Amino acid sequence: MYQLKHLPYFAAEENFVSLLKERARYQPSKTAYTFLSSGKTEESSLTYQQLDRRARELGSILYSLGLQGERALLMYTPGLDFVIAFFACLYAGVIAVPVYPPKRNQSFHRLQAIIKDCDAKEILTTSTILSNLQQGLVDHPELHSFKFLATDDHLKQFNQSYNLPEIGITEKNLAFLQYTSGSTGNPKGVMVTHENLLVNCEGMDRVWQHTSDSVMVTWLPTFHDMGLIYGVLEPLYKGIPCYMMAPAYFIQSPFRWLQAISHYKGTHSAAPNFAYDLCTRKITPEQKATLDLSSWKMTLNGAEPVRADVLEHFAKAFESCGFNPTAMSPGYGLAEATLVVSAVHKEDTPQVYRFQAEALQKNKVVRADQNDDNAVTLVGCGKTEIDTKVLIVNPNTLTPCAADEVGEIWVSGKTVTQGYWQREAETAKTFQAKLANGEGTFLRTGDLGFLKDGELFVTGRLKDVLIIRGRNHYPQDIELTVEQSHPALRPGYGAAFTVETEEKERLIIVQEVERTHLRKINIKEVKEAICKAVARDHGLQVYDIVLIRTATIPKTSSGKIQRSRCKEQFLSNNSDCLPVVKSRKACLA
Ligand code: ATP
Ligand code: MG
Repeated sequence: MYQLKHLPYFAAEENFVSLLKERARYQPSKTAYTFLSSGKTEESSLTYQQLDRRARELGSILYSLGLQGERALLMYTPGLDFVIAFFACLYAGVIAVPVYPPKRNQSFHRLQAIIKDCDAKEILTTSTILSNLQQGLVDHPELHSFKFLATDDHLKQFNQSYNLPEIGITEKNLAFLQYTSGSTGNPKGVMVTHENLLVNCEGMDRVWQHTSDSVMVTWLPTFHDMGLIYGVLEPLYKGIPCYMMAPAYFIQSPFRWLQAISHYKGTHSAAPNFAYDLCTRKITPEQKATLDLSSWKMTLNGAEPVRADVLEHFAKAFESCGFNPTAMSPGYGLAEATLVVSAVHKEDTPQVYRFQAEALQKNKVVRADQNDDNAVTLVGCGKTEIDTKVLIVNPNTLTPCAADEVGEIWVSGKTVTQGYWQREAETAKTFQAKLANGEGTFLRTGDLGFLKDGELFVTGRLKDVLIIRGRNHYPQDIELTVEQSHPALRPGYGAAFTVETEEKERLIIVQEVERTHLRKINIKEVKEAICKAVARDHGLQVYDIVLIRTATIPKTSSGKIQRSRCKEQFLSNNSDCLPVVKSRKACLA
């Protein structure tokens, strides 16, 4: 078994159940989780002992319902109820499946797909979410027969003695199913064991150096790997306090995140790139004047492409608040590898290099010099830890790439998970890849990148790459050019993809318009600005541009653009899905 280091209280731990039990025994009154209803107001908290007791109580209810070995959906917004339910599942040997409470029809599809895929037996949730759901359920008779359990209500009434036998969990047991975001297709249930979690938590600890003074502040959704494993489980692994808030609180006012870091002297946090951009754009000088970010030692930037301009602007914007730019730690990972594959060390500054764009289009890595106008800036995503290995492989010949070549990122090590729930063929294809010479096995990530001095640079997703006239173009580069070409366009809400006509790949842009511009937009002017910018920066002709209303582009529940979904909707010509901004009249409708 893998021997854990750095745990002050235990020589070796086998799983997250024994870990919580030990913490409850040795640090019973230490506050483990605090849920904030706003940036500064403490709402409720749990000590290790309280969490252990509640998890046992709920665990015994789940056990008495015969759920051991079955899947239970955990439909919660981040908060203490979620944490209790997650550990209750671990205690009772129930396979937890974290999902987000659906809001719109679209989310019901994801939910239904997941229920069916994992054959869930019960949905655990709170009484508030359940009553909010009632309305939506009216339109979904297929969910009527489904069993819901409002765990907060049950725990309030709990008066029986525990009836939870020792389940005999080992590190090889499944801890939960992590459904992938669904950026490139249907979400798939990744099977994560206790060992996967422990190894990933240990790797994150080595690279981000938590100490007994560390404090986690998180607003990330707990149905997603970064929010659950780094935001919730790493604090328990290291025994450090965790302050959580709901993602909606952050989105409504990004200030609340930084306010909580300032107030609670947060040292560690995490967010995708867009969140740093949002903070830079939305936090006012008056708000900044109240912030002290000097305690912030490490903030993971992961889950989506990391942009150099965003890092630079964020560092500049919060310099006056005491933010240290070395705190920014870009990382790369995916659910199939538990969470993290590589990350920048806490003490290191992110490596930012410019590469020749033309060479990258041909999968070659060549540094650009200072005055090269046609360069792409990429941010390094650090190195691997423990036994994780990364190999860059040509996805067509299945042979390792040369050091100066872009290829598919292949991963091996104990952090690689067990495969997709009940999908043997896809598991074999993705998790049991072998090189042409038979060497293996590796996880095929479907992402492209290269290694430079041992550091991983991610260039994009294999499935999303646009191949036009034999050259590779990364959609995120084109989308950035588009969103910056006119102030009427909403940053972060565009998609670039190709369609084939007359045997040629043609570039299509779907882009949201900013709400404040909907009434006065000059469509011709905007489209011309887009075409000009894309021709100038990428040498490409845009075949069609669809300007759509605010908040209508297909995104995953974790906020990633679904380019293939966008393409499907574009091809189906369905204006319900992509509501086109046509003229002033139409916008006012
Ligand atoms: P699906 O697999 O269902 O299409 P998804 O790949 O978005 O969805 P996740 O496992 O949540 O699901 O996300 C992992 C993906 O996020 C990676 O495969 C990669 O494409 C992207 N990603 C993560 N970190 C980075 C990074 N630092 N730079 C670029 N892309 C990243
Ligand atoms: Mg994926």
